[in-house]
Amino acid sequence: MPSAATLLSDVFGYDAFRPGQEEVVEAVAAGRNVLAIMPTGGGKSLCFQLPALMRDGVTVVISPLIALMRDQVRGLREAGVEAGALTSGNTQEETDAVWQALEEKRLKLLYIAPERLGAGSALNMLRRIGVSLIAVDEAHCVSQWGHDFRPDYLRIGELRQALDVPLAAFTATADAETQAEIVTRLFDGQQPDTFLRGFDRPNIHLAFAAKNNPRRQILSFASARKGQSGIVYCGTRAKTETLAKALRDEGHAACHYHGGMEAEDRRQTEQRFQQEDGLIVVATVAFGMGVDKPDIRWVAHADLPKSIEAYYQEIGRAGRDGAPAETLTLFGADDIRLRRAQIDEGLAPPERRMADHARLNALLGLAEALKCRRETLLGYFGETEVTCGKCDLCDSPPEVFDGTQPVRMALSAILRTGEWFGAGHLIEILLGNENDRIRAKGHNELPTFGVGKEYSRPQWQAIFRQMMGHDLIRPDPERHGALRMTDTALPILRGEDTIMLRKDTIVSAQRRPAVKA
Ligand code: ADP
Ligand code: ZN
Repeated sequence: MPSAATLLSDVFGYDAFRPGQEEVVEAVAAGRNVLAIMPTGGGKSLCFQLPALMRDGVTVVISPLIALMRDQVRGLREAGVEAGALTSGNTQEETDAVWQALEEKRLKLLYIAPERLGAGSALNMLRRIGVSLIAVDEAHCVSQWGHDFRPDYLRIGELRQALDVPLAAFTATADAETQAEIVTRLFDGQQPDTFLRGFDRPNIHLAFAAKNNPRRQILSFASARKGQSGIVYCGTRAKTETLAKALRDEGHAACHYHGGMEAEDRRQTEQRFQQEDGLIVVATVAFGMGVDKPDIRWVAHADLPKSIEAYYQEIGRAGRDGAPAETLTLFGADDIRLRRAQIDEGLAPPERRMADHARLNALLGLAEALKCRRETLLGYFGETEVTCGKCDLCDSPPEVFDGTQPVRMALSAILRTGEWFGAGHLIEILLGNENDRIRAKGHNELPTFGVGKEYSRPQWQAIFRQMMGHDLIRPDPERHGALRMTDTALPILRGEDTIMLRKDTIVSAQRRPAVKA
């Protein structure tokens, strides 16, 4: 039996393993149950293709995307490996050829679409052909609360038990809940050997900034990188058009892209971006799936993405060539409110909504981070050994202050007004500004009235935003977005815990347009 290293170069034509690949290949080849979590593009397929060649018998690969399966089969055949696929996209001849190869015990890898597992005949067939390993690509598809649940994936657990062979599951989704669900459903709750590696993209510089004239912030970020290819992600279709125009007015080559455009226009924009140097595409998240441009030098978010996973995906489009790339993500209290509302008003079941809030919280924690962003980001994905030096907080550590007292003032204002008001009204109470509404509600009589005069209105806005970022308070969709305290805030309210806040975002917030009293 040739060694893994020999097969790596002779069959696949690579000089070396990528980070994480070798350990996974060894464990899978040794017949262990394996869960491998690697980022998209990290080289997962090799981690089951190579062991398949080292083991006797057939490796069954379950994958949700027919096009992807066909690509892999073609690639393997070109490398001289006997592989075939059984999918609904097959011609009868292709299917016959696969059967023939199976009968003659020639096939090393058999790709199967998950919906095929439903047919009883499939199980009988797989029992007969001497399966030695099951590999499951995109294993997060077994997760009901994940973003692309496939009911047919639920049959894979039974298949593993029926065939009694090792199973190797692969996914790029790293959050703990999804992992736990994979272990329950695919491995019957028995913890497999778990590998998590390769999420760091060391050439990408990470930076966040609180919104403070956001259009200007994006324009100056782009101007400092004039002539380089970049993407600006926006929260709405309308904004992609206005911001693209603003960039063109400043002499950039820029165009917009969103899902509401004609398919032909979208295709042309994708093609232009691919071919032209130095084009900026201002887009909604609809842009990116099909984009495979290695030299995107920067990615900016004009609005906060919807989750930490989405953030990682979107910035990950920069610097695929390994050369330095830069990112900037803008965020503000309005973004947080909007993202919360989108989750609350969505049709997802309650558990899913809770998970979505948690994913948003993770991103907000990153936005309001007090130390290295890369550590915070990769920590979320489960990686602990992180070296950075390429983020805004490593460049210049933020100034922090003990925010316990103002946070308790704000919580008190929220509770004493029955959790029925938004930040604007609460801040006026804290500042001790009388207005008609405050007098009508009798809020000028509250003990909290005027206790927060030592901070300015913009400072209070930044404090409220950070409180939202730390999930101490949340807008309630059933109360027109009135702020309510979460359980996270209880220890601070009771004086059992303290909280550090960032000063710099408060200073920069001072130039925000003031709310009319
Ligand atoms: P994913 O993890 O997204 O499934 P793939 O398996 O498709 O990623 O691999 C991504 C790319 O990396 C492919 O083009 C593949 O050929 C390449 N690749 C994988 N392993 C190596 C390696 N050890 N050396 C060089 N290139 C590799
Ligand atoms: Zn850092």
